[in-house]
Amino acid sequence: MSDVRGLVEQMRGNRTKLAIFNTVRQLGRTTALDVEFRIGLSRPTVLKYLEQLADDGLVIEHGEGEPSGGRPSRVFEIRSSAAFSVGVDFGAPGLTFALVDVSKGVIDKMEVETDLEEPPSLTAKRMEDGIRQITLRNEVELEERVIAVAVGVPCYIERETELLQPIPRLPHWENVPLKAVLERELEVPVYIETGPRLMVIGEREFGGGGDVRNMVYIHVREGIGMGVIVDGRVLKGSKEDVGEIGHTVVWPQGPVCICGRRGCLEVFASEPAMVRRMEEMTGRRIGPHQLFSEVRDGVPEARKVIEEAMYYLAIAIVNVVELFDPEVVVVGGNIVQGGEFVLRTLREKLEGMKLDHRGVEVRFSSLGVYAGALGAASFAMESAFNPFPEASA
Ligand SMILES: [Zn+2]
Repeated sequence: MSDVRGLVEQMRGNRTKLAIFNTVRQLGRTTALDVEFRIGLSRPTVLKYLEQLADDGLVIEHGEGEPSGGRPSRVFEIRSSAAFSVGVDFGAPGLTFALVDVSKGVIDKMEVETDLEEPPSLTAKRMEDGIRQITLRNEVELEERVIAVAVGVPCYIERETELLQPIPRLPHWENVPLKAVLERELEVPVYIETGPRLMVIGEREFGGGGDVRNMVYIHVREGIGMGVIVDGRVLKGSKEDVGEIGHTVVWPQGPVCICGRRGCLEVFASEPAMVRRMEEMTGRRIGPHQLFSEVRDGVPEARKVIEEAMYYLAIAIVNVVELFDPEVVVVGGNIVQGGEFVLRTLREKLEGMKLDHRGVEVRFSSLGVYAGALGAASFAMESAFNPFPEASA
């Protein structure tokens, strides 16, 4: 296998070849005739590039196939193992990684613990080590076959300088050159995006919900983030900060939030908020996994915590639905471990707030804590094969 990254770099300079490759990539397996129809180029041109792509090792030719449109035509298939991308999500706390092949097959996923207080350079080192580990253990040569990496971060991204800037929960993440450091150490193109944008992409691509053009994805963990897709486009905003649902106000007289405002959603429905409430009621200090396990087991205090938290989450969701008109609201994070009780409680609160008449589907994500990492891997792949990644994301 030759150097795929070099081939991709060349291809980005040849629009026709790239368009033909992307067509095969999207269809998975197709005939030269179908590519011809889709792209509107002459047969000799299409065949010339398909043969080149086969020589490059990016597609496989299967000879004459079933008649399509009445004529037999040569069949080409994407070579899944030709290229890979790695997605990383800095969930603060915790890093998740996903390795995806060029057909968007999920090869591997893993999670690494981090400490929020640790210096950014150490977290960056953990990202680097994790990317090496997930590729090495799957025998994917990082230098040759990983065409791009994308990292989801909870920080502000200063595009002019490509530096990360702090958020209230990460005050020491100031002027962090994460992209430059990772590109220097790994020698791979690295894209940095805000976490929730990648999560909603992950949910759309890998969540099994089909082709949804209007969706919000709400991620409940240490903070509460939201990614929004409207009319097929992932919303971004002036500071790339669309979807800061955790800091929308659900009770103006409520306790002061880490951001300085009163009564933000995060104060009531984030993991730390639920853990704190459980401790107030029982005197027991347990982690979120234990809490959600007790919810599933029917421990009354744990279920009371969920009842309260879902009331506030429902207020936020009602407002979000009125604003963005989604077909589906997907909730992800460790909270899904709480099972049917959590979802039923949330739906009951929403019905109580008259949401049901809107016909919006509210469901859990099946991706657990990996929506962000999977979305990042998908974003990296699309960016590598699209000279204008903004158009597709
Ligand atoms: Zn706040």
